Amino acid sequence: MSEHTWDAVDDYLSELLVPADPALAAALADSRAAGLPEIAVAPNQGRLLELLARMCGARRILEIGTLGGYSTIWLARALPDGGRLTSLEYEPRHAEVARANIARAGLADRVEIVVGAALDTLPELAAGGAGPFDLIFIDADKDNYPGYLDWSLRLSRPGTVLVADNVVRNGGVIEPDHADPRVRGVREFLARVAAEPRLSATALQTVGTKGYDGFAIALVEA
Ligand code: SAM
Repeated sequence: MSEHTWDAVDDYLSELLVPADPALAAALADSRAAGLPEIAVAPNQGRLLELLARMCGARRILEIGTLGGYSTIWLARALPDGGRLTSLEYEPRHAEVARANIARAGLADRVEIVVGAALDTLPELAAGGAGPFDLIFIDADKDNYPGYLDWSLRLSRPGTVLVADNVVRNGGVIEPDHADPRVRGVREFLARVAAEPRLSATALQTVGTKGYDGFAIALVEA
């Protein structure tokens, strides 16, 4: 099976199952025009995030890694009236593009983007009384995934859904001594998830327009 086939099937599934959406298309176009890296989730993955948020009835969502706000829009659309999404982003330029994209999607009233290194802003959020969140999406720098897991657990409750993207890294995840700190971060993250008695978890490989990677999904049990 070639990458060409993965891409073609991804396009087929997305065209069939993911409704065309001007605000999402504009968010991607403006992110590209602003020179942001093209590393947002794929449309069918964004749809998965939205469905997960709706399935768990999320009213408070935390996202770590905003980029241009593409996944943010998907997740914020799942919120009921009065729901809130907080998204953490290191790059001020990314946050600026995201804010414009989110405003155009009509979601500015329910989304807050917090600029800074997430390992600095997460303790501030916690100190400010944020959480517990109903769904947490981890999608920032991979070497810090273990720290993001610790903070996610602190900001969760029994029933919180945790989702982490990019946990397969083109298959690198099975190499214990991988040279890339992002792969080592993901391995440490998965090891901690596995060892954490409060979590029930799984991970799925993903292929398609975003290459070969994977999602981890966990439920906080206690
Ligand atoms: N979730 C986005 C989407 O699917 O549309 C994609 C996020 S992109 C993969 C990762 C983002 O995390 C980038 O915008 C990057 O600037 C941000 N990031 C990297 N290091 C960070 C850190 N230490 N704290 C917060 N954000 C960080």
